Formats: sequence, structure tokens, C-alpha cells
Amino acid sequence: MTAHTAIGLFGGTFDPVHFGHLRAASEAKEKLGLNDFRLLPVGEPAHRDLTHASAEHRLAMLRLAVAEHPDIAVDNREVRRSGVSYMVDTLAEVRREAGTETAILLILGQDAAHGLCGWHRWQELFDYAHLVVMTRPDSPASFPAQLESFVTTRRRNAMADLWQSPAGLLLNLEVTQLAISSTAIRMRIAQKRSPRFLLPDRLLGYIDSHQLYGQLHSQLSSQIDK
Ligand code: ATP
Ligand code: MG
Repeated sequence: MTAHTAIGLFGGTFDPVHFGHLRAASEAKEKLGLNDFRLLPVGEPAHRDLTHASAEHRLAMLRLAVAEHPDIAVDNREVRRSGVSYMVDTLAEVRREAGTETAILLILGQDAAHGLCGWHRWQELFDYAHLVVMTRPDSPASFPAQLESFVTTRRRNAMADLWQSPAGLLLNLEVTQLAISSTAIRMRIAQKRSPRFLLPDRLLGYIDSHQLYGQLHSQLSSQIDK
């Protein structure tokens, strides 16, 4: 069955969201030609260490980051749902809402794709969605053997090929390489070094007033809008 419309879901912990995410999101939306593009913050993650800021704070920061960019939506379903979030359940839910003729694109960075085989019922992700894997600095281009053998016959070269079906295929996507990570931002804050220009200014105000990740050093704190 060919697909007629498409939904892009860019999942992550966004702890906090930064320009690496936002630039990649913007380019993915544009290159994939998506009208429906959503950032999807994980509620309670199952497959990685605990998050640092609460789900509500991570969601609030995402909303602030895209407040003036209404073409990028924030999907809060995992934050609303209690308990551990599994992407496979989320995709099943989006599939029920979207019907059978809409393509669903699960968008993630190369490093996240590397860990995919550790995700709950990971092979079923392809029953509900295509996978779009974006380049990320310092992340190897090749996949682990188990993932590679599963996706070999699913690889396609262009978005045009993904319209062949609503789910089940894989596309690699090059995006501008920004070597920014939430971990590095959290470390900078904890060490009282400035994280400015790695994420939107208005997030600095939010982080400062809620004392997330540590305390901003006083010079920066006095400069920012809150
Ligand atoms: P952390 O250091 O806490 O893991 P992170 O910067 O990796 O944070 P995540 O919330 O883990 O951010 O990432 C969400 C998604 O965004 C993942 O699929 C990840 O691969 C992708 N991503 C994160 N940063 C970048 C970047 N700089 N360029 C491209 N993709 C990115
Ligand atoms: Mg990460």
C-alpha cells in the first residue's frame, strides 16, 4: 500500500534540548517534506540512565524552544502517560490515530540508532514506522551487525522511496554536523562554565530560575532574561 501523508516523530530525552536537536529537526522536516513534524520527549525512559530534569521541565523547555516556530510541534503523549515509555507502544498509538495510509517516520540520530537493538520489541518498530537515521558527529556511520542484517533489505536512498509503504523502511539522512550534546551542556552548568550559544537563550532563563543541572554562574545569570 502506498502512503499519502506522513508524520515525522523526532524522539529524545531533550535534557535539555539544544541547537544540535533543533537544527537537525529543521533540516529533517525540510528534506523529508513533512507538514506534520513533532518533537517527542520521552516520559520515563526505559533503555538508558535516568534523566536529570523532570519530564515536565524537559517538556517546558522544548515548548519554549519552538514557541515561535509553530511548524514544529511538541507531542507530549509519553509525558502524560504514567510509567515507563516504550517507543513501540507510542508508535502503535500514533498508528491507530493516523490510520493505515499515513507514513510514520521515526527520526533519530546515528548514536541512538546504534542502540536500537536494546529497545523493547525493537523489530516491531518497523511494523508501525519507517526509520530515518540522521548523521551525528562522533558517531560511527555503520550499524552493529544485528541491526545491519535486519535493515539490509529495508534500506532506501530517498524520501521518494518511503512513499512506497506506510512503514518498514530505513533512510539515512545527512544533516549539518553540530557537535553539541545535552551531556556536555549539563556538565558545563555543573562546572559553572557557560552553556550559552549551544541552546536558545530563553532556555538559560528557564534553567536558571528552576535551578536545573546546577547553578549558572552569577555573571551569566545576571545577563539573561527570566
Ligand atoms: P544526552 O547527552 O543526554 O544523551 P543528547 O544530546 O544525545 O543528550 P538526546 O535527547 O539523547 O540528546 O537525543 C535525542 C535525539 O537527538 C537522538 O536521536 C540523538 O541521536 C539526536 N541528536 C542529539 N544531538 C544531536 C546532534 N547534535 N545532531 C544530530 N542529532 C542529534
Ligand atoms: Mg543522547
